[in-house]
Amino acid sequence: MDNSQNLSTLGEFGLISRIAAGVSTADGVVTGIGDDAAVTAFTPGMQLLTSTDMLLEDVHFRRAWHDPYRLGRKSLAVSISDIAAMGAIPRWALLSLAIPGDLPLDFIDDFTKGFLSMAAEHGVTLIGGDTCSSRAGLVLSVTIMGEQLPDLILRRSGAQSGDEIWVTGTLGDAALGLKLLDFGSAQPPGLALAPSCSLGGAEWHEHLISRLLDPAPRVIAGLALAESGLASSMIDISDGILADFGHIAEQSGVGGCIRLQDLPLSAEFLRSTEMSDEFPYQLPLSGGEDYELCFTASPLNREKIIECMKKCGVEATPVGIVTSLPGVAVIHADGSPHALQNKGFNHFK
Ligand SMILES: [Mg+2]
Repeated sequence: MDNSQNLSTLGEFGLISRIAAGVSTADGVVTGIGDDAAVTAFTPGMQLLTSTDMLLEDVHFRRAWHDPYRLGRKSLAVSISDIAAMGAIPRWALLSLAIPGDLPLDFIDDFTKGFLSMAAEHGVTLIGGDTCSSRAGLVLSVTIMGEQLPDLILRRSGAQSGDEIWVTGTLGDAALGLKLLDFGSAQPPGLALAPSCSLGGAEWHEHLISRLLDPAPRVIAGLALAESGLASSMIDISDGILADFGHIAEQSGVGGCIRLQDLPLSAEFLRSTEMSDEFPYQLPLSGGEDYELCFTASPLNREKIIECMKKCGVEATPVGIVTSLPGVAVIHADGSPHALQNKGFNHFK
């Protein structure tokens, strides 16, 4: 590729061709990038699922922290995660970019490579989008489309009193990664972290930061839960389990009780926070951007779920119980209530 050009000499159509050059043809795409609209053929009998997300510079990401390749991956990953949360198959994506004039072309190239690598990992094809210039930072907008049989789609509204609350993977890693980036080498206030320079600490910190910058959407696990019929409701954890299970509770007309000691924490999270006087529970409860799945299921399905998730290479943990009483409570091992500090990330606060 010719790298001597910049955005203004390349122009909008040059940029679109540059992005489109990396897109391969795929099943289900009748007409891709280049016409007035894309034409896709979805699988007969399936329903179409659509979701859209915006990522704004200095609101959702900082260019100083986020290398363009991982930013490209993440911008698609967070959208794929919403399709995974419905137990559906991600298929097509639209990408719109508002680009500051001084953004180097290399940045766009690396961003596109990252975006397309995430797309390839999940069988997603980029079928169109829009580009324009921005006077206030880089703006990314991704629309994702997926499909699934109507009876298999998992919604937030199916939880029943007595169901267990489950989560995949580990919680709080991305939020701790954000704290590490936010405070650089200094200690975040109220959180004494193990030093990064000794006992392999640098690797733990890198793991936590990479959970923030390069999240892996749980597509296979979401599909397996949908196809097995084992789960009654599902959501992806983007704003912390407290807020996101709260959405399930609200939409299902139920409540829930989450057991603090059962929240799954990574070895890296535990090692990094072991010096902390007061354990930072707010991170696994209300820290954002885990992109794990939270789902509910009858306690009768417990063994089958563990087996099913194991086949997907994912650890799943029961962390609480759905109650008929509205509201979400968090309890310590002795049954005493945990005082909640906040309920997850809220853009308008
Ligand atoms: Mg979501």
